[in-house]
Amino acid sequence: MARTPLISGNWKMNLNHFEAIQLVQKLSYELRGHDFDQVEVSLHPPFTDLRSIQTIIDADRMPFRLGAQNCHTEVSGAFTGEISPAMLAKLDVDYVIVGHSERRALFGESDEDVASKASAVFAHEMTPIVCVGETLEERESNQAATVVETQLMGSLKLITNQQLGNAVIAYEPVWAIGTGVTASADDAQEMCAHIRRVVASIHKDASELVRIQYGGSVKPSNSGELMNMPDIDGALVGGASLESDSFARIVNFKEA
Ligand code: PEP
Repeated sequence: MARTPLISGNWKMNLNHFEAIQLVQKLSYELRGHDFDQVEVSLHPPFTDLRSIQTIIDADRMPFRLGAQNCHTEVSGAFTGEISPAMLAKLDVDYVIVGHSERRALFGESDEDVASKASAVFAHEMTPIVCVGETLEERESNQAATVVETQLMGSLKLITNQQLGNAVIAYEPVWAIGTGVTASADDAQEMCAHIRRVVASIHKDASELVRIQYGGSVKPSNSGELMNMPDIDGALVGGASLESDSFARIVNFKEA
């Protein structure tokens, strides 16, 4: 079954709205003529940049999807400092990253929190990118597959089978994020195939539709090999998405 790869740039807490506009303009220039039927591209700037990016994407008809890095579960209320999924939907956000390992490790998000967020994102007609991945210690003690399965079962438990097929799952081994160390294409494929089997245990049809990204030090030099793997349907890119040249080369992985 053909699944359109999704390549997502997670800018984390980088770039103010002026810098963000510049990056998107450069990227649009570098990807002129690119066939966006073959690959979908989502950009996940900080919240303060979303309105600016939405405006230029819309005005210049750029083929990028707008994404967010996190959201709250409630529509509105006394949640100081939080951003609601309804607010994101109003800004034409399509994809929301939920359960990134930095949110899990630094802000104490549990699988229950991630499940509520994934469900809230779908309720507002956006798509969650649900992140899972093991630590180095867990990999070295042969627990990676079990840890990832537990995270998946916990994080996907509040969505319907139909939503499951439309979801995006990002396999991001924690030891590969921001470290420059990338999982080998074979190891990444093995875990992504495992993720698809776990999804199949919930709903067979959904497992053929769900897109599974790999994330963790993806660079132009390794994106082609990773993306050619049968169960890898795209990439979640951190550091290399902050540079238009490197991100454009990742998006162009078929030509690499
Ligand atoms: C990420 O932020 O999800 C990520 C994978 O970062 P990096 O590409 O820098 O490892």
